[in-house]
Amino acid sequence: MCGIAGYWARESSLDFEHLNTLFVGTEKRGQDGFGICFYTKDNKYLIFKSDKNYSQTNNIREILKQRYDLPIVMGISRATPETEVPTSGITNQQPIQEDDFVICHNGSVSDSLCDELRKEYSFNTKIDSEAILHAYKKFNYNMKRTMEYLQGAFAFSLIDRRKGKLYLVNSYLPLSHMYIRGYGYFWHSDLETLEKIRFDITGATRDGMCVWEQWYCHELPPYTIVETDLDSGFQNFISFTPNFDCPSWNKEIENNASKCLVVASGGMDSGLTTFILKQCGYDVEMIHFSYGQRSEEGERFAVRNIANYHKIPIRVIDLSNIYSTMNSMLIGDSELITGTRRGIKSTVAWVPGRNAVFSSIVCAIAENCIMSFGYKTVYIAAGFSQLSEETNSYPDNSSRFINSLANMIQFGYIVGKRIQFMSVLQNLTKTESWYLADYLGFAHYLTCSCDDAIYEPSSNKIYLCEDCGSTKLSVWAAKRAGVTDLRNFYKKGKVEDEKIVENLEPQHFDIENLINRLILTEENKNRLKQIV
Ligand SMILES: [Zn+2]
Repeated sequence: MCGIAGYWARESSLDFEHLNTLFVGTEKRGQDGFGICFYTKDNKYLIFKSDKNYSQTNNIREILKQRYDLPIVMGISRATPETEVPTSGITNQQPIQEDDFVICHNGSVSDSLCDELRKEYSFNTKIDSEAILHAYKKFNYNMKRTMEYLQGAFAFSLIDRRKGKLYLVNSYLPLSHMYIRGYGYFWHSDLETLEKIRFDITGATRDGMCVWEQWYCHELPPYTIVETDLDSGFQNFISFTPNFDCPSWNKEIENNASKCLVVASGGMDSGLTTFILKQCGYDVEMIHFSYGQRSEEGERFAVRNIANYHKIPIRVIDLSNIYSTMNSMLIGDSELITGTRRGIKSTVAWVPGRNAVFSSIVCAIAENCIMSFGYKTVYIAAGFSQLSEETNSYPDNSSRFINSLANMIQFGYIVGKRIQFMSVLQNLTKTESWYLADYLGFAHYLTCSCDDAIYEPSSNKIYLCEDCGSTKLSVWAAKRAGVTDLRNFYKKGKVEDEKIVENLEPQHFDIENLINRLILTEENKNRLKQIV
């Protein structure tokens, strides 16, 4: 871990006090040396290095005080990693200059890649960071291609004086940037340090929020290159796909197909999604979680039936070891009040972390599909990712939850954006889903949407209780859609029968309109329309 920082005096020069704060901030992340590079007005690099930490390098601090006329200064506080022998002197200190390029790099470059580059280029230092400069040459000064070739961990600043560009690049390591009008452009491994300088200058404790404001200050998105033109100040944000070294990832297989994994509970949302994706020609697999829920036998029977009927492969994952002793209305035999007025628009049936746990397991399966079978993209769909907003009150059924998973995938999995969430039915109400299901020929009578379903092995039938929230919502939806509901029901009679909904008159829908509102490509929508 090292700390890097820099400042481009675009509009004026900075007081020493702020420059000092900038570089003191790098020391948090490295105490084994400090180096700095000034980029002069006549395009020269002036580099000073020390094996002491920044606060002890009086000579460098003195230069910082004197040379306020230099437009760009960037520095690095070094921390010696466990893979390197600590050395005294400045041989292993950065910044590193090679021809027209100078770099301050926090992170590492894989040894196998350095060895590969050593065959082509002679290294002047023993620092792995030098490999970045050689890779940059190898790919003809194209930073995106360079980053998609390199393997390792990256947060660096690089000046290319031939192009007149400043690059800030980060993978999953932190790097933030800031601009304050009248002062200039800053970058830092440590956002807190930038925030301190921002507060000193502007008196504000928040990021800039609209176009009228005079500053911004925030972390860069991961796997991003910020290319800044040192003449015009124009910035270009470029995303790159990181290259991870993993022998168990079979990169030889190139499969252009996409796969869909559907987390299937046995209900309408996941069942209809599976059916639609199959009709669109995807390679679909259903994944059912058994977590000791009271309806488990019924749900599993329903999922298997749907899979058999529509010829879709299925796998069942048992999490009951983890969940069976957890406290939830859906597990065990406490009173179920999900169908009451209080229960139906609340989180009374919360199961600890359920959708987050399911999602991360399915993401692992998706990652393995990519690593072992070379799928180009694996889409994940689930009932919980596409409930219409007005009927659900669970935070882990929201589009924001799905967006946060997409963010997690960038760090928890190394195949990156090749795992994606898909919420086919997100824009439809349950009623519209029932209508569409009936129209398309999905076997809705095989579904099980009930918090307390009973499976009867003798008759091979599922009976849904009429008292829970899941059953009620699906019964109302079927009625409103004018669909003959062929599922079997039983009544507990324990829960007070409250009149929650009055009008259940069948509604009419335009089927083309429903298909147009699905989250699918135009090509796939057309396929569905042909079935109709
Ligand atoms: Zn029920």
